[in-house]
Amino acid sequence: MNDLGSIAERLAANAYAVDEGHAHIEVNQEVVQRTGSGPLLVRVCPAHVYSQGEGGRIEVAWAGCLECGTCLAVAPDGALTWHYPRGGFGISFRSG
Ligand code: SF4
Repeated sequence: MNDLGSIAERLAANAYAVDEGHAHIEVNQEVVQRTGSGPLLVRVCPAHVYSQGEGGRIEVAWAGCLECGTCLAVAPDGALTWHYPRGGFGISFRSG
């Protein structure tokens, strides 16, 4: 650990303005199931936003998204609908 603190401490300093009712990430379950990409989404997200539920369904707790774009970069075509939150909403980084 350095003077900036651990990753967990730095992430805890972030602030989120959640745009209730306006998810900026949507999962196309059919594409995710067909391509078997669910476990990849769960594994790559640094914020642990994705989880795999009953029947392999992928859930997304988008309110905790860091807007890093990693999931979008690795997801198969059509698996995700992803866009930045509306202005004034989303994450504010407070530590480096
Ligand atoms: Fe997770 Fe980054 Fe995708 Fe947000 S953009 S859901 S933080 S991988």
